[in-house]
Amino acid sequence: MMEKEVQLNLGKVCNNLCKFCMTDIPLNKRKFIPFSQIKKELKQFRDKNYNVVGFLGGELTIYPQIIELIAFADRLGYKRINLVSNGRRYSDMSFLKKLVQAGNIKFYISIHSHEEKTEDFLTSINGGFREKIRGLYNLNLLRKKGIIKEKISVNLVVNKLNYKVLPRTLLFYFKNFDIKDFRLNFIKPDGRAMKNFKILVPTYKETMPYLKQCFLLSKKMNMDVSSEGIPFCAMKNIKNFRDFVGESKDSKNIIEGEKNRQEFQYDEFRKDRLRTKTPKCGKCIYNSSCEGPWTNYAEIYGFKEFKPIIRN
Ligand code: SF4
Repeated sequence: MMEKEVQLNLGKVCNNLCKFCMTDIPLNKRKFIPFSQIKKELKQFRDKNYNVVGFLGGELTIYPQIIELIAFADRLGYKRINLVSNGRRYSDMSFLKKLVQAGNIKFYISIHSHEEKTEDFLTSINGGFREKIRGLYNLNLLRKKGIIKEKISVNLVVNKLNYKVLPRTLLFYFKNFDIKDFRLNFIKPDGRAMKNFKILVPTYKETMPYLKQCFLLSKKMNMDVSSEGIPFCAMKNIKNFRDFVGESKDSKNIIEGEKNRQEFQYDEFRKDRLRTKTPKCGKCIYNSSCEGPWTNYAEIYGFKEFKPIIRN
């Protein structure tokens, strides 16, 4: 059966304060969406034949009724529930087991380094790295026992503090936790990330040699590595670079907003609101498929890096 996915934001409440977060609302001003509202949305979308649901935060594992919510989605017939989490709460095995028993979950863990100091600095949580590592250990254990059916994925935000060691980071999670699916999201300069632009946002040019190593590694080790937020001309020296462009997999319907819930297609929102093009892009053979750089990136660094590709 074809998959039809909706992603429901449970509110921006979080137990981290990541320096690259796109949200800049103070932590004490954030609220969860009521359980009754999310249940209503789950029913509405199931009636429209959506069969996969993703829950987004903030940090969804601290949503007070997260286990009941997963069980409810499972009873409605959602065949998979995607959880994008910082993974810290998975360090508690009894909590993790309850989640896994409630429905068929695919776990996406956001972790941005294999070095404790870097991770804890980026997320502003001392001890956060250790909790995430314990969480990955628990997830891997349940996956090996066949209790978790779906493969576990890791999402990383590529930034000034981690890009030079990214190939090592991938190998670390591959070797220690059998992670074979990685998403490298080039930092989006918005919210807190925009405030921390100077310390966090590298140029595409300086990151590319390291990202190229990650893509080569993925072929060698049979891993699935994709990226987000990188214009094609920045990737042009990578053989078959389009194999690593993750945007094409992102056509998801998202529902978010605290007071007035809004529905939008993430890929359209990203193209129209978050990315930009240069006047020269019109001459480029990839103009219709490439989304260009992040808009705020181009506002600060300009367009000099981006040169139209005239032919293959
Ligand atoms: S020139 Fe423009 S359209 Fe072409 S790859 Fe670069 S950013 Fe994309």
